[in-house]
Amino acid sequence: MAENLLTVEEARAAILERTAVLPAEERDIDDALGRVLAEVVTAPEDVPPFTNSAMDGFAVRAGDVAGASPEGPVELRVLADLPAGTAARVRVAPGTAARIMTGARMPEGADAVVPVEHTAMAAGTVWVRRAVRAGGNVRRAGEDVRAGETVLAPGAVLRPAELGLLAAVGRARVRVVRAPVVAVVTTGDELVAAGETRSEGQIRDVNIHSLCGQVWMAGATPVPFPRVRDTREAVQDALVQAWGCADVVVTNGGVSVGAWDHVKAVLEELGAQCLFWGVRQKPGKPMAFWEWNGKPVLGLPGNPVSCMICFEEYVRPALRRMMGHALLHRPVRTAVLVEGFDKAEGDLRTHFLRVVARQEGDRLVARATGPQGSGILSSMVRANALAVVPGESRGVAPGEEVLLHMTELPEDH
Ligand code: AMP
Ligand code: MG
Repeated sequence: MAENLLTVEEARAAILERTAVLPAEERDIDDALGRVLAEVVTAPEDVPPFTNSAMDGFAVRAGDVAGASPEGPVELRVLADLPAGTAARVRVAPGTAARIMTGARMPEGADAVVPVEHTAMAAGTVWVRRAVRAGGNVRRAGEDVRAGETVLAPGAVLRPAELGLLAAVGRARVRVVRAPVVAVVTTGDELVAAGETRSEGQIRDVNIHSLCGQVWMAGATPVPFPRVRDTREAVQDALVQAWGCADVVVTNGGVSVGAWDHVKAVLEELGAQCLFWGVRQKPGKPMAFWEWNGKPVLGLPGNPVSCMICFEEYVRPALRRMMGHALLHRPVRTAVLVEGFDKAEGDLRTHFLRVVARQEGDRLVARATGPQGSGILSSMVRANALAVVPGESRGVAPGEEVLLHMTELPEDH
């Protein structure tokens, strides 16, 4: 592994080069949140579909109430009561009005609404105490969207506002890019489940939980596999099953050079093509990537922090590409690194440091969250960003600037 390690950029590019957008599927809009639209959506009719009142009040002819004031209210005969949703048709002739609720269709003849607070009503008569301009407090048919207009184009990410707009144009189902099913396979004889009794020498399977959480957070669907023993047979069975049920396989552990690290050997025996094994980075050096009969297999190292950081830096962008997102990477910001970072002479690795970044006045300040060992998950819990010390850098002096990957912010570039 030592000879030919890829740089972080090369590894990322190799993965993205080999991941393709998944096909589209049709879904109910309520099951489409966060998905990427795969069709052009046009409005079959105006939104709003008819001209309606923007206020509770009285639909009037603006000309009738032009001279209205608190001292000289204009008296109008009330023809009808128009609640929202009514189909009643009335005609407001000079000298008349209709009581109207927000959202009710404007009656013919009326061109404005006087809000109820500027009126008084008794026995079929309303006194209007304030003038209103023509069109005042009225929402015109099509003022939001015109019939025939394109409201959303392929590539749009369906946020709550987009779901609402789809509903407004009468679309209950839409075509979106399918989200990948991700088989998550953890390996290791030393592992027991969080809820199991732990025997001597065992540790809890941490990564199955953090990884599945990361898959959900990326918008894809994890399939957690039962833990896999460190035998070739067990690893092979699990990988074959995982490949069969998922679009992407993420393995965890068993990719180092230990005698029980079978993932690599088994995959190659099964005919998977290894695109790389090993990245010039810390943590996460044993990260590996295969293509196996058209599906990506990402091998993440077993140390809990390495595992999460490799997911964040490599798997998440790949899943986003498969989901059709144009924005693949987290925002990058420049920050002052308070402690600095010592890099040994000749160390060509990219270092990812867990930091907490805070705005202080006009600068972003990053502080390491504690010991940076690749098993120390509590420092991951405190972090909201990863500071990147590039391979070619000679280290960072205290107070010098570094780039941060903002791991809590949505992708924006
Ligand atoms: P490996 O890559 O399998 O050699 O694992 C590297 C280190 O990560 C070892 O100390 C493992 O015990 C630990 N490890 C591997 N898988 C997990 C897991 N799922 N949860 C917690 N620790 C793990
Ligand atoms: Mg292991």
